[in-house]
Amino acid sequence: VFTAANVAAAPEDPLFGLMKAYREDPSDKKVDLGIGAYRDNNAKPWILPVVKKADDAIHNDPSLNHEYLSIGGLADFTSAAQKLIVGADSPAIREKRICSLQTISGTGAVHLGGLFLSKFHPQKPSIYLSNPTWANHKQIFTNVGLKLADYPYFSPTTKGLDFDGMLQALQAAPTGSVILLHACAHNPTGVDPTQDQWKQIASVMREHNHFPFFDTAYQGFASGDLVRDSWAIRYFVEQGFELCVAQSFAKNFGLYGERTGAFHFVSAPGADASVANANIASQLAILQRSEISNPPAYGARIASKVLNDPALFAQWEEDLRTMSGRIQEMRRGLRERLIAKGTPGNWDHITSQIGMFSFTGLNEKQVMTLRSKWHVYMTKNGRISMAGLNTNNIDYFAEAIDSVVR
Ligand code: PLP
Repeated sequence: VFTAANVAAAPEDPLFGLMKAYREDPSDKKVDLGIGAYRDNNAKPWILPVVKKADDAIHNDPSLNHEYLSIGGLADFTSAAQKLIVGADSPAIREKRICSLQTISGTGAVHLGGLFLSKFHPQKPSIYLSNPTWANHKQIFTNVGLKLADYPYFSPTTKGLDFDGMLQALQAAPTGSVILLHACAHNPTGVDPTQDQWKQIASVMREHNHFPFFDTAYQGFASGDLVRDSWAIRYFVEQGFELCVAQSFAKNFGLYGERTGAFHFVSAPGADASVANANIASQLAILQRSEISNPPAYGARIASKVLNDPALFAQWEEDLRTMSGRIQEMRRGLRERLIAKGTPGNWDHITSQIGMFSFTGLNEKQVMTLRSKWHVYMTKNGRISMAGLNTNNIDYFAEAIDSVVR
């Protein structure tokens, strides 16, 4: 029988524990490099000007109400989200072999994809995750009953991609394995394959009939260019892969708490592709119904307004360049300062990595000293959120790193 008293306490989420420790630290020098959310140069959350504009327009629109959206979500949003990720001229759209549902941000999209595969994949496959990966991947896929496997990704020596290790693991994985790929701005390492490496990854995956499951949480946020940040997904679609995409609008719109995202399933080209895709859409809708009934309207309305209005879209691209540009400046600034101090080690990875996060190479002991002595908060694996750096704390942070590395 079920006895509530027998339920043991769950371990604290490490990231949220870190945030709590930061909040409780009374030091006025403290620096938060933990949380994966954009901060402006004053370390404050930033409402994108384009989001503010769209929000005002929605607020004053008398035609809107609080009725349910459909099970698949706001159609103007999902169709625009689809074009954004695969390209408006994608063969998948032309041939009606992509279906899209609005989800509870990227997490909900990853979950829906995992649930779908665990129900409909005939072999109950393992899902291959990069080592390391976003910690939540493991929980989400475990919760839906998929087995986990991993492929090497990060080389501690070069602090770049372990490309050979990755390819070898993909070659050794059983035929038809599901491979989770970060489309850009890999979390937690900030290390992405080059376009040439993506081509080789695609070639090995094709040879072994693997199924790509793309997670894209940073489109436009990594390079500032929406097309460039979706290159890998578009390339795999062009190559005729059957694949799925979990898309988050948390970071690139700053809509974190509004839980705005989409799940897309692209069927392989072929005479019956559009029928097969419609069947998949119908099954996804049933899963969605049982889990959340209908997705939330507010964030999707904002994103939809921006995505479907050319002037707002152009302003959004400007806002994306503001965020990604500031982060790139912090990367350059940090590397320059460490070099100027003669801090032992090579710091090129700070600028060759991309996106919100950087795997600094600092070890757990150094991380803990940074926390206790310098009031600098980052995860134990040495990951920093670049967005937490600004012109007011970058000198202090460089000094702190210098002191713990020596
Ligand atoms: N996937 C990756 C790799 C992420 O880094 C994140 C956010 O940190 C997400 C998915 C999903 O985030 P959200 O559910 O807030 O959209």
